[in-house]
Amino acid sequence: MANRYLILFLLSFASCSSVQSGVSALNAATPAPSVTPSPIGVGDILFVPDMKFNSKLEAEKILSAGKKLNEVRKSQCFFNAIKNRKMIETNGKTSEEVAIHLQSVSGSIPVQWYLARFTSAVAYRNVGSPIIHFNRKYFSYKSSDCSIASTLGHEALGHVLGEYGHSFKWTKERDYSVPYSINRIVDLCCLQK
Ligand SMILES: [Zn+2]
Repeated sequence: MANRYLILFLLSFASCSSVQSGVSALNAATPAPSVTPSPIGVGDILFVPDMKFNSKLEAEKILSAGKKLNEVRKSQCFFNAIKNRKMIETNGKTSEEVAIHLQSVSGSIPVQWYLARFTSAVAYRNVGSPIIHFNRKYFSYKSSDCSIASTLGHEALGHVLGEYGHSFKWTKERDYSVPYSINRIVDLCCLQK
């Protein structure tokens, strides 16, 4: 297992070159942490903080929020709420099949932090890349595990691992896409735990 983590970690560094230079520049002042937290995966989704793009406290926050997301998505609350929700863009699956699917996917997700002040994007991902970028305008290491778990759920569980999409523009129906449904339901079930 140690080798696997090492490989994942090295891969996460290798991916840095694909990040836009503007984002790199914004993060250039972030001091390098002296201690590298081990990317402990609890459950089946392993979140790997990229140490070039976050502080030690931010990395620890990703690990604790990732642990929370893994707990929530395995809960009866999450399963029932997804199963009972009318959803759109389900890739042909029934709501119950989506619930089963979301509880079964696994994988490794690199996470980086950046700062963009003039945007409403709380996080983003480049198409075809599994890396989740968290905007420091909206989140910090002081954010609650549940609020970060909700965004990790949308991006990692909904988009990267689940491969569900939604319209780019806001519509009333968009809230019923799988990624936005995950936001609502992680918010609900996380606070009940
Ligand atoms: Zn999305």
